[in-house]
Amino acid sequence: MDWKQVPETVLRTDVLIIGGGAAGMWAAKRLKENDPGLDVLMVDKGPESWGGLMRLAGGDFAAVLPGESVDDWVKDVVYYWDGLCEQDVMEDIFSQSYDRLLDYKNLGCEFLEDENGNLRGVPQRGLDHCRLYPAKLKGTGGQNMAEAMVKEMVRLGVRRMSRTLVTDLVKDGDRVIGAVGFHSITGEYYIFQARAVIVACGNASWKPGYNSNTSTGEWVDMCFQAGVELRNFETLTVMNAPKLFFWEGQAIYLALGGRFVNALGEPFMDKYSPVLGANTDNNYITRAMAIEIRNGRGPIYLDLSQIKPEDMVFVKPQTGNQMMNYEKLLAEGIDFFHDKNIEFIPQVQLTLGGAATAPDGGTGVEGLYVCGRSRSLDYVYMGGFGLSSTAITGYITGNAVADYLRTASAGREVSVGEAAGLKEKLYSPMGDAGLTPKQVLIKVQNLMSHYDVCLLKSAESLTAALGELDRLRTEELPRMYAADPHYLLKYKEVEGIFLLTELYLRASLLRQESRGSHYRLDYPKRNDKDFLGWIVQRQGADGSVVQRVKPVPLARYKHPVDRFYSDNFTF
Ligand SMILES: Cc1cc2nc3c(=O)[nH]c(=O)nc-3n(C[C@H](O)[C@H](O)[C@H](O)COP(=O)(O)OP(=O)(O)OC[C@H]3O[C@@H](n4cnc5c(N)ncnc54)[C@H](O)[C@@H]3O)c2cc1C
Repeated sequence: MDWKQVPETVLRTDVLIIGGGAAGMWAAKRLKENDPGLDVLMVDKGPESWGGLMRLAGGDFAAVLPGESVDDWVKDVVYYWDGLCEQDVMEDIFSQSYDRLLDYKNLGCEFLEDENGNLRGVPQRGLDHCRLYPAKLKGTGGQNMAEAMVKEMVRLGVRRMSRTLVTDLVKDGDRVIGAVGFHSITGEYYIFQARAVIVACGNASWKPGYNSNTSTGEWVDMCFQAGVELRNFETLTVMNAPKLFFWEGQAIYLALGGRFVNALGEPFMDKYSPVLGANTDNNYITRAMAIEIRNGRGPIYLDLSQIKPEDMVFVKPQTGNQMMNYEKLLAEGIDFFHDKNIEFIPQVQLTLGGAATAPDGGTGVEGLYVCGRSRSLDYVYMGGFGLSSTAITGYITGNAVADYLRTASAGREVSVGEAAGLKEKLYSPMGDAGLTPKQVLIKVQNLMSHYDVCLLKSAESLTAALGELDRLRTEELPRMYAADPHYLLKYKEVEGIFLLTELYLRASLLRQESRGSHYRLDYPKRNDKDFLGWIVQRQGADGSVVQRVKPVPLARYKHPVDRFYSDNFTF
């Protein structure tokens, strides 16, 4: 087939939302509530009405309840993120968290309550104040939220397109005027003409068990090319995952007494952190796991025997399977809650890197906004923050874009030449010879999964990984092909993952210290003098990655940075 002949359609809208997960839907909701006359078009590469990763989520929601102090929560995360916290932004976000929880309740989503109707919370990561509130029914909490929000989209008249990958943003000078993409089944080419564009594509990841086929790296590439500043790409979420299947839920089971033991039966986290033990973020645990395994004390097993029987209501699915596949595992003879021989390993999941935006999600490119997990906020993940931050930032950005459109002009049309050039570039990998996207992806995943690269970094290991990435980029990437539109989507994902990996390696090299999930064997201590700041990256004039450390503006912030969560650990 001659892909130049593939049909193309021009779609006009006021606001194009890329990504139909929690964040995209919250932005759409606020846009329509502000101005029902706005045309909002939400495009997702996934199936119709699925609602993003929220559909798989447990439904745990982080919120500051009435009567609690927002300042206490901000102080907790300043400490938890080793100082890398936009204090004013987080104050605003936490201030809105209970309202969004109530919104979900009003949409019919239920949370776990005691006999007096009080929400039952689970404290997070050994912090004094931050806690999450689980859904009433463990197993289908996130699914209920996704279904409620999809219903809202229908009620509010948000136009939605599925199975459509957006590949490039189109700009006129410093303003975004639209985007292009294609249908991953028919191959049809789309030109989106929009007055504003919102990127709500979720976390960037390497297609792990956790995020599998959703967000990968395409949006990172799109934003990078459009001149958006990116931040925190040296962070990773390396999760402790069973070796043979995936299981999530540690935000709760570790807080309630779950722990990991090595081959000698030792709860080894007590050694690395006598204060926190295993009640901490998974990155500290997987770092310790890697050290234990390297020192011959693997394999590692999960031990849930210390959880009180009455607390199992928080942990064990009561309904549905979420992605835990509890019933399927039982059928296979695996009882997650009693077996003592389920081997756990560190598994690279995603980066917390994202767009460095203004408080309202603005990117500095006129008309282009980012919300949800594609926006950089947290330096280390906290349970329940995925669902609350997506609702809150989606809400904030929906309001901001509605405001922007009150005065924004129409913007010029995407020209025939621009659209044709992007079309040619997009379909150029179509063919039937070379390497499949999966063959290339596995090589990048292997590169990332070395303990030396994802957990115990050093200049030597990072430089070697960058060299291998360059080799793959020059020798293998050009040989990658897409047999049909479905594989063209996979192709674009892998292409994006190359940039994502480069950003990760370069930022990790620049940060010559250890902080949060970023641990350098050759710089095992924090260095506040040079690195109490965010690593910001953007595209240079020659297309290369330009990066710098942007200091935390301590003088402007309310809370001193004088306590550091990583001080609880000795590795
Ligand atoms: C198993 C599991 C359990 C979880 N449990 C919890 C929990 O209990 N509490 C909690 O707070 N968080 C939880 N999370 C995390 C939470 O679900 C996510 O952080 C949150 O849903 C992310 O929302 P988002 O809208 O930012 O991104 P996503 O949900 O990832 O949505 C992004 C959407 O964009 C689409 N997309 C991406 N790129 C493109 C493109 N180029 N073109 C078109 N479409 C594109 C994707 O298909 C996707 O639908 C869980 C996640 C998983 C996987």
